Amino acid sequence: GGKPQREFDYFALSLQWPGTICANTRHCCARNGCCRSEPLQWFTIHGLWPDYDDGTWPSCCRHTEFEMDKILPLKETLDKYWPSLYCSSPSTCFSGKGPFWAHEWEKHGTCSAPVVQDELQYFTIALDLYFKYNVTEMLSSGGIQTNGKEYALSDVIDTIKHAFGGAPEIVCKRGSVEELRLCFDKKLKPRDCLTTLTNENVSRRKHCPRKITLPTYDPLV
Ligand code: 5GP
Ligand code: 5GP
Repeated sequence: GGKPQREFDYFALSLQWPGTICANTRHCCARNGCCRSEPLQWFTIHGLWPDYDDGTWPSCCRHTEFEMDKILPLKETLDKYWPSLYCSSPSTCFSGKGPFWAHEWEKHGTCSAPVVQDELQYFTIALDLYFKYNVTEMLSSGGIQTNGKEYALSDVIDTIKHAFGGAPEIVCKRGSVEELRLCFDKKLKPRDCLTTLTNENVSRRKHCPRKITLPTYDPLV
């Protein structure tokens, strides 16, 4: 079992942009079918992560068997909005069984006490936050298009900050948005992703240049 951990400080809901991920994993995905032939034109979920204010995080905290029976009513929604876009299987904490989102429960969800007690609650909260704060819509309402056009990193951050009520963290790959993270306090209210640095600095450290794009998903044929 995992070591005892101190209580986390805040949550990051980590979202991934399929247009960027699938452009970089095209060959193995074509073989393994993880990126789809129909376009994914919205952010999908990577994970709901408990974090510490100092920039570190706990992982793999409590050994609990992942039980599909407990979350059956959510399964269809999880498969649709929390798909694996990679070909490799996740590194494992405990059982190593189940889909990508089951791995996220084992690695991150088990460290979310006392806010989250079990896997049903973990997935329920993650999906609620995802649907309540629709980043894809926030960007399009703010005039940021997801068609490969260039925007200033600071404009993307400000658009989300204004619509969401907290500064996001952005992770880039080759000048494109790979992940966008929304942060929440332990009452699940929006907050800035990090308190210690300006958020533009945080995102730039995560490989983002000053001008970034959200590329269109290129369907595999
Ligand atoms: P990467 O090295 O690709 O940025 O991250 C590898 C893994 O480390 C992620 O898949 C995630 O599990 C974990 N990780 C990276 N950054 C963070 C973070 O800011 N908070 C938490 N909780 N985990 C993270
Ligand atoms: P994390 O460490 O973020 O909790 O999970 C990342 C692990 O899951 C990596 O081992 C990666 O190979 C695997 N994985 C499977 N599907 C995906 C996906 O769609 N996105 C990311 N970031 N990792 C994935």
